[in-house]
Order: sequence, then structure tokens, then C-alpha cells
Amino acid sequence: MESSVVEKPESGAAASSFTKSLLLGEIHEEMVFPWPEPDAEEQRKVRDLNAKAREIGDSIDHRQVEEDRWIGDDNIARLGEAGLCGLYVDEKYGGQGLSQTGYARVFETFAQIDATLSIILGVHQSIGYKGIHLFGTDEQKERWLPDLAAGRKLAGFALTEPEAGSDAYHVRSRAVQQPDGSWVLNGEKRYIGNGSKGDVFTAFARAEVDGKDRHIALILEKGMDGFEVGERFDTMGLRGNDLRRLYFNDVRVPAENVLGEPGDGFHIAMSILNNGRIGLGTGSVGAAKKLIDLTIDHVSERRQFDQPIADFELVQEKIGWMVSYLFGLESMAYLTCGLADAGVEDYSLESAICKVAGTEFLWYAANRALQLAGGEGYMKDHPYEKILRDIRIFPIFEGANDVMRCFIALSAMKPVGEKLSGLGNIGLGDPIGSIGVLADYAAGRVKRQVAPESISMAHPELEKHADAVSEQVRELAAVTEGLIREHKKDVTFKQLQQKRLADAISDVYAQVAVLSRVTAIFADQGVEPSGQERYIADSFCRRAAGRVRSQLRQMERNDDDRMTAIAKLAYKRGEYGYSLFTD
Ligand SMILES: Cc1cc2nc3c(=O)[nH]c(=O)nc-3n(C[C@H](O)[C@H](O)[C@H](O)COP(=O)(O)OP(=O)(O)OC[C@H]3O[C@@H](n4cnc5c(N)ncnc54)[C@H](O)[C@@H]3O)c2cc1C
Repeated sequence: MESSVVEKPESGAAASSFTKSLLLGEIHEEMVFPWPEPDAEEQRKVRDLNAKAREIGDSIDHRQVEEDRWIGDDNIARLGEAGLCGLYVDEKYGGQGLSQTGYARVFETFAQIDATLSIILGVHQSIGYKGIHLFGTDEQKERWLPDLAAGRKLAGFALTEPEAGSDAYHVRSRAVQQPDGSWVLNGEKRYIGNGSKGDVFTAFARAEVDGKDRHIALILEKGMDGFEVGERFDTMGLRGNDLRRLYFNDVRVPAENVLGEPGDGFHIAMSILNNGRIGLGTGSVGAAKKLIDLTIDHVSERRQFDQPIADFELVQEKIGWMVSYLFGLESMAYLTCGLADAGVEDYSLESAICKVAGTEFLWYAANRALQLAGGEGYMKDHPYEKILRDIRIFPIFEGANDVMRCFIALSAMKPVGEKLSGLGNIGLGDPIGSIGVLADYAAGRVKRQVAPESISMAHPELEKHADAVSEQVRELAAVTEGLIREHKKDVTFKQLQQKRLADAISDVYAQVAVLSRVTAIFADQGVEPSGQERYIADSFCRRAAGRVRSQLRQMERNDDDRMTAIAKLAYKRGEYGYSLFTD
């Protein structure tokens, strides 16, 4: 395939997104090297907060929380008093003022303690009041943040509706502006966390703004006339999460409760979710660490065939996979936090990558951990079955992973489409528009700057892997260009190719993150004493490179047409239809 031609950059412009530049064949290594070192002062604060989180977490009976179906208002109050409900909120509003990295580290701890605890606190801070923090006026911040940061009030995030899940752009709730500037809201939401416990909700609706059908973000408060908390859902896991329907019947919302500008509601929703997704990535890191620790204990103690099961190769392969993959995932997640903390304009793709990779890894890791626990794993007096039930929702909420994959691929393809439209009149238009839910979110143009096509900032001892990554980036760029030239606008329907592209991008990003991290480790403690990290990094990069090669091969040769044809036949039959026996 023809390789890509790099267009002249806008002078002086820096790349706005590391990952979006990859498909152009550009590696903006200055964005990912050197490894982001956390602030020492903040580290101390984080250690303190983590100790408090563990103390409170250990005092809670998390099985009882499942029975009670709530963590307890007293525990929320304790978490609030310990500073754990306002982690990133400015100190002037009573928060801890943590960076993204600091926030992620505390959330790792929550996830290690219990998934329900981390989701209640995640709904509260990652999405519930994040909009007020990001888009609120000073008055709105002063009014709501102190109580929310102190845990005196809980927040929720109300986007999903019965007819609008993944396609959240098409919510049906509607707000109509009144002559006095207030808004009257009608509609219904479902699956809303902290439903009956929340005092403040960021809710989204459609609204006519300047004659156009747009979205609006509204801050709703418990007790508003017409704001009704509905039935609770009975869930497979996260049973302590108070998941509810919400009904809005002519709720009058004062103008001062509008978040951001009317019309910007969808952008606000997507910006908040972007942030939440990193949390799921780093939360998955925390939960996976706990699983690995549990599993190592179990396989070391459990003896069968006169030896610890830990000594069987098939067991070792599972543990080796968990440890090495977690090393890669942890590197990606904290590199992404570093991008956010460094003020990088657009980390939407990296964040989505961490969510997809993290939540799927955690699911497979939990499954394998349960397998290694044998029959005990299936028992309620052991932790695995609860973990498995609790985390099953992670790949579905905050952007179903398949939708996220399309988002990653199409967003990364967009700059290539723009480049090609300049060169050869092969415009993609707005590819992301095909998944309306994300359209607004990814609309910004990628700023361009000439960047090397190779990695030069990795430690010389890692040169082999750095070269391999550079080669993968060149191939990815070429394959993407070929894909767009072949399918033009129809590339937006080629979801299977998008999935392969997204997974390949994810694995390239993971390798870069590992190289950056290990380069820093070598600089810090020397190459010789870093043998274990080097070995794990080496193993991770080999496997990840293998996966990239395999995805690229399958982009050329696959049986996609057969699979989609079989699915369509099955839809026509309306059943499996090939049974050996008739009943
Ligand atoms: C425990 C829990 C907590 C939640 N908390 C909240 C909350 O606090 N606030 C809130 O607003 N919402 C919340 N949600 C809702 C959650 O975000 C949605 O369930 C999620 O967005 C998926 O929407 P859906 O359930 O309607 O599934 P659908 O949109 O119907 O999707 C179902 C499946 O269809 C496939 N699919 C859909 N679209 C595409 C596509 N374009 N391409 C390929 N495949 C596709 C995917 O496999 C997807 O998993 C929660 C849900 C649960 C279960």
C-alpha cells in the first residue's frame, strides 16, 4: 500500500493529540517522554488519603452492603469527613485539589477495597458533579461544591434514557425556556446511580436554542417540584449502588441552574464522560492488582497432585499474562493521567483506550482468577463471584466498548481523511457523525506539526522495541490510508475494520507507555538493577507487537463478509435454525 504523505504543518502548532497523530505516521514523542513524574508533595497527600480510605473501607462489611443495598449514610459521612468525596475540588471549596494522577491513585485504592464503593464515589465525583467543576460559574461552584466535596450531599449524572443509551445524543427529555429565563423540563431517565440518595444531579435534555434543536445541561436538586425519583433496579452486581429511574414532570429549573451555555449540553456530557473513562481505566488497574494478589496467595497455598497448583505451567501462564498485561495497562493509564495533568488539549482517545483495554482486561483476569480458585471461586464466602458480578457492567457503561472502539478508530482516521481530501479529493466528511453520540466531542481538528516517524527518546537498551513501534506506526498509517482510499465515506460502516484499527492503536499506545515508563526506571535506578521491569516490558512489547501484526494482517485478509452474511441469514430465520433434532 502507498505510504502517507505528511502535509505541511501549521507553523508553530503543537500536536493536540498524541494518538490521533499516529495514523498520520507521526510520533509526537515529546508528549509521552519523559515519563510524567508525580508531584512529591501530592504523593504524601495521596498516601494519607489512601490510608484513610483503607481504614474506612476495612471497617465496612461489603457483603452486608449488598444485603442492605446501600453503603450507609454514616459511611458516606465518614468518607466525606476524611476528604474522600472532594478529591479534585479546589481547596477553596473544601476539596483536596488533587491532579488527575492523584485522583486516579485514590480511585485505585477504592477499587481495591470494593467495586460498589468505588462506583458510588465515582458516580458522585467522576461524573456527578464533574460538570460543575469543569463548566460551573463561580456562583455555582460556591453554591454546590463545598457540600458535595464534604460528602454532606451526593451527586448523580442523568443522561441515559429508555430510548437513548449508547446513542445519548438522541435523548428525548426536553427543556423549554420560559419568558422569565427559567426552563421547564419533562422526560424520563433510567439507570441513574445514587438515584434516591443524590441531592444534586447533572441532567441533560434537548432544548431549542436560537431556533435550533440543541442540548442543555441542567443542575437539578432533590425536592424540586415535579422531580420524582422512581423505581429501583435490581442488578446483577454493584448491588449497593442505588440505581433508579428519574421522572421530570414540568420541573421548573431556574436560569442559574443552567450549566454552561444552553446549546452546549451535549459537549458538556461528553467532556464529563471523557474524564470518567480514565477513572474506569485506573480503577481497573486497582481491581486487577487486588485480583492478582488474591490469586497468587491461592495458587501458592492450594496443593493438588502433591504440589502447589502454582507450579503447573498452565497456571503460571495465567499469572504471567495477568502481571505483564497489568504492567502495560498501568503504564497506559498513568501516562494518560500525565497527559491530562500536563494540560494536553485532547486526551479523549487515550482515555477511551484505557477504558476499553482496562475493563476488558479486568473481566478476563477476574474470570481466570475464579477459574484458578476452582469450586471455591464459585462460592459466596470467597470474593471472586462478587468481583465478577460487580465488574461485568464496566465494559458496558460510560460508553459501551464496541462503540468506544468505533469512536477511537473514526476519530483517529479523521485527520487522515482531512489530509486526503486536500491531496486527492477523497473526503470523509465527518466520519464521527456516524456515531452521533460522539459527534460533538471529537469535532476539533488535530493540530499538526512535523514529527519524526520514529522514537528516539526511549533508552538505548530499548531500541529494538522503539524501532518496532516506529515500524508499526508506519504500517498503521499506510493501512489507514489504504482503507480510506478503498471505502471512502463508507469506511464509517466498516466496523470490523474499525475494531481492528482501534485495537492496534491501543496496543501501539500501550507499548509507547511501557517504553516511556521503563526508560524512566532505567534513568532512576540503572539498567542492571531493573532486570525484572526490563523483562516484563520486553515480554509485554513482544506480545503487543504480535497483536498489532495480527490485526493488520486481518485487515487485509478476513472473513467479515461471511460473518455478516451469516448474521443476516440468522435474522431472517429469526432463530438458530440448524438444530440436529426436531422437538
Ligand atoms: C449499573 C449501571 C449503572 C449506570 N449508571 C448510569 C448513570 O449513573 N448515569 C447514566 O446516565 N447512565 C448510567 N447507566 C447507563 C449506561 O451508561 C448505559 O447502559 C450504556 O450507555 C449502554 O446503553 P444501553 O444500556 O441503552 O445499551 P444499548 O445502547 O442498547 O447498547 C447495547 C449494545 O449494543 C451494541 N451497540 C450499540 N450501539 C452500537 C454501535 N453504534 N455499534 C456497534 N454496537 C453497538 C453494543 O454491544 C452495546 O453494548 C448505567 C447502567 C448500568 C447498568
